[in-house]
Amino acid sequence: MENNHQVTDAKSPLQPHVLIFSLPFQGPVNCALKLAELLCLSGIHVTFLNTEHIHRPLLLHTHVVSRFNRYPNFRFETIPDGVEHEKPVSADRFMEVMEGIDTVTRPLFREMMISGSLSSRSVRPVTVMILDAFLSFGLDVAIETSIPVVFFETVSPCFLWTSCLNLPTLIESGEVPFQGGNLDELIKSVPGSEHIIRRRDLASFCRSDDLSEPIIDLLLNEARTIPQAQGFILNTFEELDSLILPHMRKLCPNIYPIGPLHSLHKARLKEKMTLMSPKTTFSNSIWKEDRTCVSWLDKQAPKTVLYVSIGSLATITVNQLLEIWHGVVNSGKPFLWVRRPGSIIGGYEESQIPSELLEYTKEIGCIVDWSPQEHVLGHHAVGAFLTHSGWNSTIESIAEGVPLICWPYFSDQQVNSRFVGEVWKLGIDIKDTCDRLIIEKAVKDVMETGGNIFRPCVDGWKILAKESVTEMGSSSMNFDRLINDIRVMSS
Ligand code: UDP
Repeated sequence: MENNHQVTDAKSPLQPHVLIFSLPFQGPVNCALKLAELLCLSGIHVTFLNTEHIHRPLLLHTHVVSRFNRYPNFRFETIPDGVEHEKPVSADRFMEVMEGIDTVTRPLFREMMISGSLSSRSVRPVTVMILDAFLSFGLDVAIETSIPVVFFETVSPCFLWTSCLNLPTLIESGEVPFQGGNLDELIKSVPGSEHIIRRRDLASFCRSDDLSEPIIDLLLNEARTIPQAQGFILNTFEELDSLILPHMRKLCPNIYPIGPLHSLHKARLKEKMTLMSPKTTFSNSIWKEDRTCVSWLDKQAPKTVLYVSIGSLATITVNQLLEIWHGVVNSGKPFLWVRRPGSIIGGYEESQIPSELLEYTKEIGCIVDWSPQEHVLGHHAVGAFLTHSGWNSTIESIAEGVPLICWPYFSDQQVNSRFVGEVWKLGIDIKDTCDRLIIEKAVKDVMETGGNIFRPCVDGWKILAKESVTEMGSSSMNFDRLINDIRVMSS
């Protein structure tokens, strides 16, 4: 196999030309840009297709644009999505975005690919498409144009297996919909997770009794199309998902687990450090990161700070905010809390907040709109993460050895939090409750007594995650295999 760590004649028009089309949300775009940069470093031409509503906020962050401008073999392209785009959207507009993609983007994408408009004198026509697995319509375009397609899933493999690839089985067996049954009942028809997953741990969408909802259709389409692609890229490492991957490979034999992707990205970019200025940032954030929280963390003792964030899409009510706030304050731990603008439904006035919360927060809390999360999780002061259990947050935490208190919100998060608590033993899953006493206890259990219970697993997974991205590690080798396969598919 050739050495893919070299930037091999990146300007050559003979190099493969990969189109990457990500789902237009912060988590997937962040991952897809990291994958794009890794491909560029391997000498492959990359066209990164963004829908308009996500491209605009991304362009405001000039560090992203200037980082990618360094690559002669990279370019951004945009495509309309019919979504109003003054601000990034929250979870309540997830389906609106997906419907916009289906009605506006889908036909334009087909036209774009059939016309070959993405080629130029210096770049071949697209030779391989890497599409987010939610963009399952891409398979029809791949068949029509004979361009190979590899799907890229930025949500978790445990979600994908239990709640998407097995959704047809769950429906056929009558386990979904639940029709009001007990949420603690075990799910039996999904191979590999028979003793782990209860109804309440399946993706949030499975709780609906209405199988005609558009999201169910979307997942069923995904389940149908994924096995037909040439390959499937996952942000995990072999060891972490050893329970799921062998089952998944029976359905989709060509899987590339290349995670933790941010760690692989960092490791491969480090080798190229000479190309970069010391100020280079790897962030692909669509919000401005408030780095003052890093100086605040610098002043805290090792492993004492609770980091709190609900990611880029989740929203909470003022009541939930107060329960979490009381729980965090009563735990007595210093905390760094990300309060993304728009994440508290209807907002709140300071007069609604009990004075003891405000006083304690002034004393030992730090609140920011958006943090440099990868950096924060790697900071020695952070001792635990109270999270909505998004997959990126989860795998970033695993890579840095930070234990988790999981309060899942929607989508894959219900499954992730169950695996965190039951399979990987990385922390506590408090799903379906939002109670100050439970939160206080969970924080204390993880940060105090949890030192003994969770620490061996947290440290063990951190070591395995780090090993997976070393030169001979599983993710690193899977990535090299992907590059090699892209070259073969492009020849
Ligand atoms: N993130 C960040 N700063 C923050 C909060 C989150 O950079 O203050 C990043 C985080 O590192 C992760 C992504 O946003 O890469 C959130 O993705 P995740 O899958 O965890 O959740 P989602 O936002 O998709 O619900």
